[in-house]
This record gives sequence, structure tokens and C-alpha cells, in this order.
Amino acid sequence: MSFQELGLREDLLRAVGEQGYTEPTPIQRQAIPTILTGADVLAGAQTGTGKTAGFTLPLLQRLMESRPAAGSNRRGPRPVRALVLAPTRELAAQVQESVETYGKHLPLTSAVIFGGVKINPQIAQLRRGVDILVATPGRLLDHAGQGTLDLSRIEILVLDEADRMLDMGFIHDIRRVLALLPDNDSRQNLLFSATFSDEIKALANRLLNSPKLIEVARRNTAAETVKQVVHPVDRHRKRELLSHLVGANDWRQVLVFTRTKHGANRLAEQLNKDGLTAAAIHGNKSQGARTRALVGFKTGDVRVLVATDIAARGLDIDQLPHVVNFELPNVPEDYVHRIGRTGRAGNEGEAISLVCVDEHKLLRDIERLLKREVAKVVLDGYAPDPSIPAEPILRGGGGQRGAGRRHDGQQRAGGRGGERCQGGGQRQEHGGRGRRGASARTDGRPDGERAGQGRSAHGRDGAERRGGNQSKSNRPHRKPQPEHSRTPRHARTSRRTEVPALLGGGRDD
Ligand code: AMP
Repeated sequence: MSFQELGLREDLLRAVGEQGYTEPTPIQRQAIPTILTGADVLAGAQTGTGKTAGFTLPLLQRLMESRPAAGSNRRGPRPVRALVLAPTRELAAQVQESVETYGKHLPLTSAVIFGGVKINPQIAQLRRGVDILVATPGRLLDHAGQGTLDLSRIEILVLDEADRMLDMGFIHDIRRVLALLPDNDSRQNLLFSATFSDEIKALANRLLNSPKLIEVARRNTAAETVKQVVHPVDRHRKRELLSHLVGANDWRQVLVFTRTKHGANRLAEQLNKDGLTAAAIHGNKSQGARTRALVGFKTGDVRVLVATDIAARGLDIDQLPHVVNFELPNVPEDYVHRIGRTGRAGNEGEAISLVCVDEHKLLRDIERLLKREVAKVVLDGYAPDPSIPAEPILRGGGGQRGAGRRHDGQQRAGGRGGERCQGGGQRQEHGGRGRRGASARTDGRPDGERAGQGRSAHGRDGAERRGGNQSKSNRPHRKPQPEHSRTPRHARTSRRTEVPALLGGGRDD
């Protein structure tokens, strides 16, 4: 199938052609014609599937169709007519880039707003008039609160990576944003999510009117193009093994995941000492530092980008060949998100996990989710010492999606953190294993960063926001009704269509 057959206008086809896309991806084949009909959509699509173009192209077309006729004497700046909400700054920026790219031949304007940067330039931009606004929820509400943004004319609402927004505790903010929009019925609502928790289904039920369901990759399945392998290794030799893998295989661009921000910083520092240019990206970094790290990584100046889960969310790096799980994530679904950073848009990719004895249970959970085992390859000189006992890993918030789980705050039981697994003494006592210049540091450990630490400091749009108030976010919450849409609650409910079982428990691989 070609893009021409999807019903897109000529100026959009031209922009798509200029990107070098020859045919639509599966999500685009389904989403574009459906969204063009004006229907609400509930789409299950993993990142890397081309979903951004899947909603951006028809959104642009619909806005062109509903554009006020030239010369119509509306006063004031042009109103925002489409709003895309995204969980992280990086994703918001990338979505707006896509809007610009695909809309380059159209007379529509767009802007991106997120926290961590000055608000005044954003205000000035909004004053000049914006058709399509891409935003993270916190800064959007700041603007609305200051009266610098009017959302009452929104025709199309997109929630992108809605599961992440809920994971990050944005449910209250989303509800507050919804209360500022015209009534559900008078706008088109598109909800994109890689996974479907009960919370997402509840949000979909409240937001979407008779949604069309679109789903491409099976939920929670890893991209098939990604080759996955586990290298068993002792916890204190992970950094050494990582440096070895990068050097020996001459990897030029590798994204490495740690569980904590401290862990990311420390690993990046140590890799730099090993002579590998590395940078860390996480929510404690300023926006400038994050952008610099990402640009450096894309241009090849930074060889290893060390990231926490949330910070890596939404990073779109073309043809990223290698992803390394320096530590397995606490929650199996995050493994799928992580490895989705490689093998994008049909390219081959490789996901390597360095797994120590503490993480065997996490690995089993991941394999259960994937419904298959991941190949285990013990590398010469790095065989784990079987006498090293597992140390417990405490899970934040019970490891439930949207139930206070966290990515970065993992804490070891006993609180003795790094010291206990530092000195290779333990291992040497048992005969040594050809350790080569191993650092005495415990790079594989989430030291020092405790549950709930440093959250509020990241700001509402900060990529690491999570969890502090998670239990609160799970409480039933009444949506405040906007003045102009005080429809009786029973009537509102009756217009909604239950999200069908397609996305129900049966799909929970
Ligand atoms: P996304 O899932 O929206 O983050 O897109 C992942 C990557 O796929 C981006 O780098 C896009 O530029 C690319 N992409 C989107 N649509 C296509 C297409 N039809 N053909 C090839 N690449 C595409």
C-alpha cells in the first residue's frame, strides 16, 4: 500500500516523500484513514512503529479542512485547534518536530511548551497564534493558570504515550487539562498507549466516544527485529564488561539503561575514565544538558548515552543499533520499552542485558511477559562466581503499573548500598575469575537513591516525575466540569463506549 492510497492531500504526500518514506507503516495504514473520518481512536502502538506520523498527518489534514476561510474576520490571534499532550520534554519536542516536518508545506503553525525553560518566549509564541500545540501537562497548566493560553477551541486532542503519563503521575494534570477543553463530543480524541492498564482503560472510557480500536504490534511484545541476549555477570563487573563490549565490538552508538540517576551519572563518569565518551541523561539534568547529551549522541560525539527509563522515553534516534540493560528494570514492561529504542522502523537492533545474580527474578518476570526465554551467553572471562549470593532488590510500590512503582528509586534491602558489594574480596575469596582491572566500585548498584528522593525537584514536566503521590493519583477523582459543558453526568456517561475486551486482560501477555 502507498501513502497515496490513504487519502492524504498532495502537500502532505510531498512532505512524506521528502522524508524518504516509501510506504506507510502498519499503524499508519490503520490510523491515517480512520482519523481522517473524524472518529475517536484508541491506538495500541509501541514507540518506533511510526505512530507519530500516524496521528500527525491526518491531524494536519483535518485542521486544513476546518480552517477558517481566509479573510474571515475573527479577532485576536488564531486559536489553538489541536493539542498533543506528551509525557516528557524530549517526546514533546520530537512530536513538534514531526508536526513541522510533515506540515512544512501547509500554512499551519505549531509550538511546543514544556517546563524547565523560560516561560516568556512561550507566552510570546502563543500570542502570535498557534494552530497545533504540543505540550507536557505541567507547563500547559501553568500557561492556562496565567491566562496565557486558551484551550476552549480545541478540535483535536491527542494523548501520546498515555501509559507513561499515568505512570509519571500526570492523571490529575490530565484531568485538569480536560476540564479546560470543549466538551468531548465537540472534539476528536486520540489516545495512544503502548500498554493498557486498568487506569488507561478508565481514561479511555471517560475520554473517547465510540472509539475505533487500532492495534499493530501485540501488546507487550518486543519488536521482532530486535535480537536479544543476556550476558550473566557478577554485579561488580558489569562496568568492566560494558567497556569491554563497547571497545571489542567497536560500537559507535550505544544506549545504556540504569535504574537510578546516580547510577547513570557514575557509570557515565567511569566510562569516560575508560576512554569512552559517555553522557548521562536523566531528570536531574537541566534541559540544556539533556539536549546537549542527546545532540552529541545523535552526531556521534557521545558514544555511550546512559539513561534512566523515563529520560529515555520518547528519544527517537534513527537506527540505534545497540541497547544495553546495565541493570534490568524493576517492571518487566519497561524492558519492552527499553529494547524498543533499537530496531526502529524495521531496522535491525540488538538488546543486551547484563544480568547479575540479584536480578534472576526480574529476568524471569521479563521472560514471562515475553512468553519466551532470552538467550543466555556467558562471555569468556566474565562467568559469574556461583558462590556470590543474591542480594534482595526491593521493588518500589509493588511493581504495579500506575500503582506507585518507580524506575529510578530502587533500593536494596538493608540499606548498606554499595559498600557491601564493592570490594571484590568476596569473589577473590572464592578463587577469582580472571578479573581484568575491575573497579572496586559497584556500578551495577542503585546506590544512595532512595524511594521518593528527588522527585518534587524535577518539576511537573521533569522526566523523572513519579510516584511521590502515586497512591493519591489512584484515588477516584471527579473531573471538574468546564462552565460551558455542564452536561448531566449520566448523559455524559451514556455517550461513552466501553473499551472492548480487545484491550482487556486477555491481552496481558
Ligand atoms: P515513531 O514511532 O513515531 O517514534 O517513529 C519512529 C521512526 O520511524 C521515526 O524516526 C520516523 O521518522 C520513522 N518513520 C515513520 N514513518 C515511517 C515510514 N512510513 N517509513 C519509514 N520510516 C518511518
